[in-house]
Amino acid sequence: MPTKLFIDGEWTQGHGGSFETINPATEDVIEQVGAASAQDVEDAVAAARQAVENPEWREMSPVARAGLLFKLADALEADADEVARLESTDVGQPIGVARFANVGSSIEHLRYYAGWVTKITGETNPIGFPDTLHYTRREPIGVCALITPWNFPLMILVWKVAPALATGNTIIIKPAEQTPLSAIKLVQLAEQVGFPKGVINLVTGDGSVGAALVEHDGVDKVSFTGSTEVGRSIVRASAGNLKRVTLELGGKAPSIIGRDSDVDAAVAGNLGGATLNSGQVCAAYTRFYVDKRREPEFLDKFVAGAESLRLGPGIEESTQLGPLVTAEHLAHVEKLVATGAEEGAQLLTGGKRTGERGYFFEPTVFAGVRDDMTIARHEIFGPVLSVLSYEDEDELSALLARANDTQYGLAATVWTKDIAFATRVANGLRAGAVYINMPPIPDQAAPWGGYKASGWGREMGKYAIDAFTEVKGVWMHYGY
Ligand code: NAD
Repeated sequence: MPTKLFIDGEWTQGHGGSFETINPATEDVIEQVGAASAQDVEDAVAAARQAVENPEWREMSPVARAGLLFKLADALEADADEVARLESTDVGQPIGVARFANVGSSIEHLRYYAGWVTKITGETNPIGFPDTLHYTRREPIGVCALITPWNFPLMILVWKVAPALATGNTIIIKPAEQTPLSAIKLVQLAEQVGFPKGVINLVTGDGSVGAALVEHDGVDKVSFTGSTEVGRSIVRASAGNLKRVTLELGGKAPSIIGRDSDVDAAVAGNLGGATLNSGQVCAAYTRFYVDKRREPEFLDKFVAGAESLRLGPGIEESTQLGPLVTAEHLAHVEKLVATGAEEGAQLLTGGKRTGERGYFFEPTVFAGVRDDMTIARHEIFGPVLSVLSYEDEDELSALLARANDTQYGLAATVWTKDIAFATRVANGLRAGAVYINMPPIPDQAAPWGGYKASGWGREMGKYAIDAFTEVKGVWMHYGY
């Protein structure tokens, strides 16, 4: 496959050198990928700007634009197994997760937004002027930079590509430098499908390439998924031309396990919600507040469940937990886990790297965690589960205050059969998605995004249509 940049309809050598992408299960180099130079970024922005004005794209009928997205979904479906294997090798993700949660949901996402293209409407408004019609149009914002992380590279990219193109924008994709291969493959498929040149551009490289896009006055919108720290720098850097900015950032999701909960279901759902993709999930459940009376039973079963997970290379069908994505990320997880023991949490299982090669880390459970400990406050982004407890759910406001005592607010969950307790907790949690008795799985039809430092704006559903369009009001006086 080409490992070049895609600018104005051509695969071109990056002029910023190249970088390696590594298989985290074996530490072998998979590919050398071209890196964009500052001039490459200029060229990509120029191509995307020109394509915004190109009548072939600007005036394409909604049916034709929808047709391109449907064809892209079909092309991805035809190559789904190959893409899932590529993603599993690049990220370390278990192949089943790559097939269904990642590639499968990307295909559905493309079809969902292909369906939207012919249903994007404005409205008429009852203004007070006589003989005047007021109506609104939803128009593309223009050139959109789509900057993505490494944990679900294809899926998160498609969350942006599908609505951005559905609404008639042009795009410049900047995938994470750790995992660029599925983005390159998606652009290859888009080229085959026949999007007009310049509508889709790809610049691979590190954070400096993303930063150059964010600072560029020729870019009208940045849609970013990644860390809260980089999200903050994007807000600062986008001030020049006051870009539209959507941010999907970090999380530290709390899970409340009620005194009447089905502990077996809570253990299974929380383990799944905490260790999917080795815990490298923004919405992963990480802080478990368990009613004191159920804590011993919960801990026994939680530890047994964690110890039963099969670690291995993602590409092997039997693997449930793959490696962490890079050596650097492994070191980050190890460092945070060390603080758990230092600050007095009780390590019940795991806590260390396994094997000689590959960035494998054991599923790790801490008990006796206090609210102020580093492991309860920092986003670890690994299979590290911190169990806290609470005395009495009748003291609900105190419990909610503890769960909400974080800079983040992406996802949260409650496990109970009591609908009054479930509803009160769901109402009181400060998070963009609250799950009752289920793991944190997104769906293209439901809004996705965070409160507080977990982000700005929402993706998915009709919210993404809003996020990729400007509203224009048209005032028409007909009383002359
Ligand atoms: P990251 O912020 O380090 O990098 C994300 C992307 O931004 C990469 O493509 C990177 O090259 C680029 N980048 C780095 N510096 C930049 C800069 N100054 N300007 C512009 N772009 C820059 O994040 P990561 O480590 O790749 O991903 C993990 C993070 O992503 C976690 O915090 C996780 O919670 C978050 N995440 C959030 C969601 C969500 O939906 N809210 C989903 C997945 C991941």
